[in-house]
Amino acid sequence: MSKIIAITNQKGGVGKTTTSVNLGASLASLGKKVLLVDIDPQGNTTSGIGINKADVSNCIYDILINDVHPEEAMCETKIPGLTLIPATIQLAGAEIELVPTISREVRLKKSLQLVKNQFDYVLIDCPPSLGILTINSLTAADSVIIPIQCEYYALEGLSQLLNTVRLVQKHLNTSLQIEGVLLTMFDARTNLGIQVIEEVKKYFQQKVYQTIIPRNVRLSEAPSHGQSIITYDPRSKGAEVYLELAKEVITYEQAAR
Ligand code: ADP
Ligand code: MG
Repeated sequence: MSKIIAITNQKGGVGKTTTSVNLGASLASLGKKVLLVDIDPQGNTTSGIGINKADVSNCIYDILINDVHPEEAMCETKIPGLTLIPATIQLAGAEIELVPTISREVRLKKSLQLVKNQFDYVLIDCPPSLGILTINSLTAADSVIIPIQCEYYALEGLSQLLNTVRLVQKHLNTSLQIEGVLLTMFDARTNLGIQVIEEVKKYFQQKVYQTIIPRNVRLSEAPSHGQSIITYDPRSKGAEVYLELAKEVITYEQAAR
């Protein structure tokens, strides 16, 4: 059984990309076969996992717009078991180019269906918007992980996101579920972080992962070396918590079966 998870929040800088790369690498290091799909025109997952965008011949844009088979866009990463479908800046045009196309919301879903069975997990790193690229991701996904930064206004904009999830459930993907809510960039030295945790738990209850991602400098350094935290600094707190999260994701899936 394979599972497609969209990592989404229309706010930027909440830890979507950090979670996509490091959860992906952690799942792979636990023996799972993982496909990372970068659908953010900024392509931070692509460069963060060590793929040089200049060397990319086909990217997610070609899958969505030019009907390229997803296998032709897959790149192997340095981590065994972790494959990437990259994004380049070309994708920035896709929002507009998709507007007049037929069944524009289901393009990613149709493509991923061709390859999903080769993987245990497909993780989609969404852009910071609720536009057509995110709609494609939510339509293709079995579930969503929502990273929430432990900061001021953490819950701001969430009703908009949840409303979009409900609209997709109603019109495009009735089986879409919320996989989990992930608290990120927690700073134990501030009361604020603790307040945010309480607020988010009140709102989402048992959907909140037990694993809370703290602020960790090594996590912010790793992408500039083109590495996940698992290879960049396997003994760091960041590596420890993302491995913990991966185990939680696997456990929930086994429990659900
Ligand atoms: P998004 O994809 O939601 O825009 P990112 O994952 O790119 O967010 O994170 C935004 C910035 O914060 C990046 O520079 C990233 O390296 C940094 N960052 C993310 N998570 C952590 C963390 N737990 N500790 C320290 N820095 C982090
Ligand atoms: Mg990002």
